[in-house]
Order: sequence, then C-alpha cells, then structure tokens
Amino acid sequence: MGKALIIGCGGVASVAIHKCCQNSDEFTEIMIASRTKSKCDKLKEELENKTKTVIKTAQVDANNVDELVELINDFKPDVVLNLALPYQDLTIMDACLITKTSYVDTANYEPEDTAKFEYKWQWAYREKFREAGITALLGSGFDPGVTGVFSAYAMKHEFDEINYIDILDCNGGDHGYPFATNFNPEINIREVSANGSYWEDGKWVETKPMEIKREYDFDGVGMKDMYLLHHEELESLGINIKGIKRIRFFMTFGQSYLTHLKCLENVGMTSIEPIMYEGKEIVPLQFLKAVLPDPASLGPRTVGKTNIGCIFRGKKDGKEKNLYIYNMCDHQECYKEVGSQAVSYTTGVPAMIGAMLIMNGTWKGPGVFNIEEFDPDPFMDALNKWGLPWVIDRDPKLVD
Ligand code: NDP
Repeated sequence: MGKALIIGCGGVASVAIHKCCQNSDEFTEIMIASRTKSKCDKLKEELENKTKTVIKTAQVDANNVDELVELINDFKPDVVLNLALPYQDLTIMDACLITKTSYVDTANYEPEDTAKFEYKWQWAYREKFREAGITALLGSGFDPGVTGVFSAYAMKHEFDEINYIDILDCNGGDHGYPFATNFNPEINIREVSANGSYWEDGKWVETKPMEIKREYDFDGVGMKDMYLLHHEELESLGINIKGIKRIRFFMTFGQSYLTHLKCLENVGMTSIEPIMYEGKEIVPLQFLKAVLPDPASLGPRTVGKTNIGCIFRGKKDGKEKNLYIYNMCDHQECYKEVGSQAVSYTTGVPAMIGAMLIMNGTWKGPGVFNIEEFDPDPFMDALNKWGLPWVIDRDPKLVD
C-alpha cells in the first residue's frame, strides 16, 4: 500500500497508470504529473470512477529540479516513477536525492545533443543514493527491463554460467501506415539510426547501422528479418551476468520502415544537429516527430503480436544447455484492455511492477541498481499476474 508519483503522461505512462489503477490494493494513491496537465486530467477523468486508487494531477517541468522538489514535498510519494523522456532522468534523480524518495525509470539518461545509450551518468549516482538511504531502479520496461529479469531468472534457476545471450525483439504488428514509430519517434529513430554494437570477450564490437541481419521464426508471429542494434541493457548484463562471453540484441524491421528511414536519413531529417529555419533554430528530428503519426494513435489500427525474449546458452552441472524465455503480446488485446498498442503495454506493465516492488519493499537496498541485480522471482510472478505471461522453450532454434 503506497503512493506513487508518475512523471510523464505519454504512451508508456498511460499503460502504467491503467495498471496502477487495476492494482489499487498496492497503489492507494497516484499523482500524474507531466508537462501538459490536460493529458493527465483526461486520463484521470477516464479512470477515476473505475478504480479505488485516488488520482491526483499536476503540471511539472521535469527539467526543473526545484519544481520537482516542491511537487514531491507536497505529495510525499513512496516512489517516483519516471515515464517522461530519457533527457529528464538526472533532474528527477536529483530531486529524489534532495527529498530522499526512491526512483524508478525505463530508459537510461541521454544528453539532448548526443545519442550514447550508456549508464555512466546514472551509475555516477550510486554513492549518493547509498548515502541518502534510497533506491534507484534503472530500466524497468521490457527491454531494458523484462530482458534483465529473464536473465537473472535463468542465472538463478537454470544455469551455473551463461556464456551467450541473444535478445530478440520482434514486433509483428501492422498499423497500416507506410511509416510510423511505435513509441516516441525521436528516441526510436535515434536508437535505430545509431551504429550497432555487441559485447564480446569483455569489449564492444561496433557495426554499421543495420549491417548484421538474420532471419528468425517467431512463435505467434512467423518468419521475420531482424537486425543487430546496440541496446542499453547489453552494458549492464555484460557486467552482471556470470560467465558472459557474448551478448547481442536484434530487432525486427519491415522493408517499408527501413526504406523510409534510409530516405529520411539521406535528406537529413533524422539529424539531431539544430539548423536555422526562417530565423528560428529547429532540430530536424524533432520537426519530423511533429509530422509523424502520434504513437498513441496507432492503438486502434495495429493488429498482430509482439514476441520479445532472450535465448541463453551456457552450462548446468558441467553440461551445455540452451534456453529461450519470451513473452507474446497481442496488439488488439492490449487495445481492448487499456486503449494502447502492445509496444506501450509491454513497457508500461513492467514499469508498474518495478514501482510496486520498490514501493512495497520487496526490492530494497540503498543505491542505484539495474533490474537484473534484484531477485527475479517476484517480478516473474507479477508478469504472469499483470498481463505479460512468459513461455520457456528448452530446445530453441539458435541465432548464428
Ligand atoms: P511519449 O513521448 O509518448 O511520452 C513522454 C511524456 O513525457 C509526455 O507525456 C511528455 O509530455 C512528458 N514530458 C516530456 N518532457 C517533459 C518535461 N520536461 N517535463 C514533464 N514531462 C515531460 O513517450 P513514451 O511514453 O513512448 O516513452 C516514455 C519513456 O519510456 C521514454 O523514456 C522511452 O525511452 C521509454 N521506453 C522504454 C522502453 C523499454 O522497453 N524499456 C520501450 C519504450 C519506451 P507532453 O505530453 O507535454 O509531450
């Protein structure tokens, strides 16, 4: 039983808020605070007669530490769930330190001018959080998030050492648009247009964007092309999972998406370098975001399933062993339940679960932690209970 302050009211936050309201025994009171308060009020209006959770709303600029501190001191939450953008992670962590409040997010900090996908800025807060006696849980979405929990579960119950992990993120959904992104376009395009990389023998191997392609036959989806990307959880899993020799991340993309992306790149529309336009500075990628379909509008039109999981190869009792743990999630089922497509759903549900486990003290310990550092069992149980059941395949097809 506790109070959560949720910052941001976009695609992912909307799902997490629906889930907190379904789980009102744990979330007795929530405050939804975002840049645009009208979005928070609209969601409150939609939900407040269907839940016992008391819902409050507020306007906040999460880039402003003083504003955040004032809001936290006023509401006195047990946990702050950051579902704004990665640019706000550090200011929200600063406000949590000042007010001694625990912190949860779903994406690592990004400076606005470079796309790095590194934990170093947030890991630099470890000592400060330890001294303040509060917990920061980093990356409680699906990937990062559930992929780390699957890895910790495999390590705890199935392996003595894990040598290889392949994380496969498949979106078999079709929204009918020639080009749209399933979550915040700015973050999504920054991620897929960056160089790829994977972790091997203690160091990063860099690839050109989309250089490494494989095909995989996904349960519930079928055959898809997938491409190797850099992804933030590779950095923490490479350190936290015992015996790792190589860890890679693959995401599926359709041909239409890739052709459009290449064209947008070629004409300079995906650049994050500001340019002058009619006397005003604009960032091409931010302008592109303004003309693309809002990810929140994709829900009613997206059909098909996502399938995200990890293939592990390692050793148990001296013998080689392979194991695949994954979740399948249906876009239309999600839409019926919470009015969002599966990409927001698969992130919003783990965000609620992470906040719950920190808030009720199941996961505790002062400091800054990646999700795989905690006991995976209560999280795995909660995934089954709250809409993201997982499947184990003990004889998976491997990726070469
Ligand atoms: P959206 O763009 O839909 O929502 C972002 C929200 O943050 C909006 O409500 C926005 O307000 C608000 N916001 C932005 N800047 C500020 C600010 N300065 N102060 C207060 N509020 C602000 O993004 P998503 O919901 O798609 O993504 C949310 C987070 O989830 C991102 O960090 C993303 O990287 C992460 N993510 C993680 C995944 C995972 O599996 N781990 C997968 C997908 C996403 P406004 O309404 O005014 O624009």
